[in-house]
Amino acid sequence: MFRLRLYYFIKPLLPWGLRIVVRRYFARQKLKKVSHIWPINEPAAKKPDNWPGWPDGKQFAFVLTHDVETQKGLDNVRRLAELEMELGFRSSFNFIPEGEYETPDDLIVWLKGNGFEVGVHDHRHDGKLYTSHKAFRKAAERINQYIDKWGATGFRSGFMLRNLDWLHDLNIQYDASTFDTDPFEPQNDGLGTIFPAFIEKQPSQSSSQERQSRPRDAAEEESAESELSAFTPRPSGSSSRTGYVELPYTLPQDSTLFLLLQEKSNQIWKDKLDWIAENGGMALLNLHPDYITFEKNPRTDRKFSYKHYREFLSYLKKEYNNDHWHVLPKKLAAFSKPILSINSSNATGSQKIEDYPVEKIWIDLENTPHIPFFNPIVKELERRGIDISLTARDAYQTCAMADLYNFSYDKIGKHYGKNKLLKSIGLIIRSLQLIPFALREKPTLALNHGSRTQTFISKILRIPTITIMDYEHSSGYFLQPEWEILPEVIGANNFHKSKTTKVLTFSGIKEDVYVPDFTPDTALREELDLKNGSVVITVRPPATEAHYHNPESETLFLKFMEQARQNSQTKIILLPRNKRQETHLRTSYPDWFKLSKTIIPKGVVDGLNLLWHSDLVVSGGGTMNREAAALGVPVFSTFRGEIGAVDLHLQKEGRLVLIESEKDIDEKIEIVSRKKDFNQNSNPRRALSDIVGNIESILAQYRSN
Ligand SMILES: [Zn+2]
Repeated sequence: MFRLRLYYFIKPLLPWGLRIVVRRYFARQKLKKVSHIWPINEPAAKKPDNWPGWPDGKQFAFVLTHDVETQKGLDNVRRLAELEMELGFRSSFNFIPEGEYETPDDLIVWLKGNGFEVGVHDHRHDGKLYTSHKAFRKAAERINQYIDKWGATGFRSGFMLRNLDWLHDLNIQYDASTFDTDPFEPQNDGLGTIFPAFIEKQPSQSSSQERQSRPRDAAEEESAESELSAFTPRPSGSSSRTGYVELPYTLPQDSTLFLLLQEKSNQIWKDKLDWIAENGGMALLNLHPDYITFEKNPRTDRKFSYKHYREFLSYLKKEYNNDHWHVLPKKLAAFSKPILSINSSNATGSQKIEDYPVEKIWIDLENTPHIPFFNPIVKELERRGIDISLTARDAYQTCAMADLYNFSYDKIGKHYGKNKLLKSIGLIIRSLQLIPFALREKPTLALNHGSRTQTFISKILRIPTITIMDYEHSSGYFLQPEWEILPEVIGANNFHKSKTTKVLTFSGIKEDVYVPDFTPDTALREELDLKNGSVVITVRPPATEAHYHNPESETLFLKFMEQARQNSQTKIILLPRNKRQETHLRTSYPDWFKLSKTIIPKGVVDGLNLLWHSDLVVSGGGTMNREAAALGVPVFSTFRGEIGAVDLHLQKEGRLVLIESEKDIDEKIEIVSRKKDFNQNSNPRRALSDIVGNIESILAQYRSN
């Protein structure tokens, strides 16, 4: 290890040209000695115990990964991805979080939107990641933040350095820092297999020695672990173990082949691929966008022509068209984990491929608030290797909001207004419109937040449905979903009429799922011309077309508006529920809008940001009230329908004030500015981990049946 450390210490001092000349010399020397283990190491073909084979009887798995090392590599990402798409392939791109380049968010979005995967490559890529466990733990904290931010599932170290035991500190489903055989790597002990492997976390992994010498740290570690375990899938059987999947690369790296050994063709890739295919293994390639060039005739020995890669992919398609399982690493990890993590003593050897289908959840977004809510849920489910398909209804601003969050979705159905008959017809039309989507996508589960159309059509198509709800008084469904996930405060009250619906609960409120993600953006102050010293009031009129509309609510809203605009200090941001309501308010109450005392923001505004910049919120009910409460902004509800358990709970906790009469407006609403401080860590993510854990346990039931 000392020699390695020394190398990475002096490496930045040596010019690339000198380093490569020295490395090429040693590589050629080595090549003569390693021909019996490289590129093919025969014993690596041995299958893992109880290995059932690949899905759908495919002969072998084919996985493409890329490590982006430098700005030059970053500049090539789209081009490389486009080449793969053209030939029908998808890959994973691993980015360095704190290296010499910055990874643009829109590139991540573009990759994911096109079906690619994003992973984390090292931390700083300086060869120092594994210097000490303490340093590694510190880096792991940062790496885990990027894993979360990018919705990543996998990790690969720089220079294939590794300590597989320490990697348990990362919040990953798989690591890819190993290889079956590669004597040219600095840490050259291979994993010795062309199959995925399971790296089990030993219960005693944090050694007792450490616990004794640093009792406080150990306690901290323990609490961090228990929090983490809430996010790791809980295996259904007691015979399963916790840990991550190791995915070794099994095709030589492009850098080894073309830069170090200066190969003139891709024949070694083809030979190795044939051997892996013959042995039913996993062909996994790591190729760097840094070294590929799209020039027709590159005249440099620091790059290799894209033709080598293109021709290799074409060879695979021609020779093994229907025989290979082309899969993203996250999915391969999700597939192999339950197989490999079963204790061999308990394994029966009777596992069938059908037991491990690649799962897909269909989420229907019927309304604007569904988008921020499902955003962290989608990210977390994808991180766990579950496929997500989205549909969105073209109503209110649902699609505009979905675009704002960079969702890729199918736009299906529209809004049919307040007429009851039209609404019912609309429900049926949209349900029918959803059929082709559901038939094409074949989801394992349907998931919504009160989408009647999805629940309805899923029942007909026999797709098990989960509805997440947080208001128990909305009028009945045609058909009940199989599952409901409710806040504990509702779930405990057992309000169900239907005995067939199974209920699971989560702690806190729905808004706790996504409000902790929020960071304030002060650009809004200028956008809306909010002046220092004014009291900003955000007002949401009552819904006038919703099925729970109550006219009393409207009276309270009008009374408050009159009162608020008399106050010389106030600035009112009015948020009508739709264009029609806006037109109605503008024509009926022109005085409100004089001198911009009251404004209606143009286009979509980030609701949370607006609430954050408000001193108080007065709203006719709905999500906005609870978002304000979750943010700690004083909120007054003028909703006068039947008050839900969540709102009663919030009122009891003092996070929400219910306005029940005109007298309450005078007595309870204080028009003053508030101190805006924000502690991002104040809100634990129990709600999110509960919901995702519930979805996974439901999924597991349909998997085993
Ligand atoms: Zn690298």
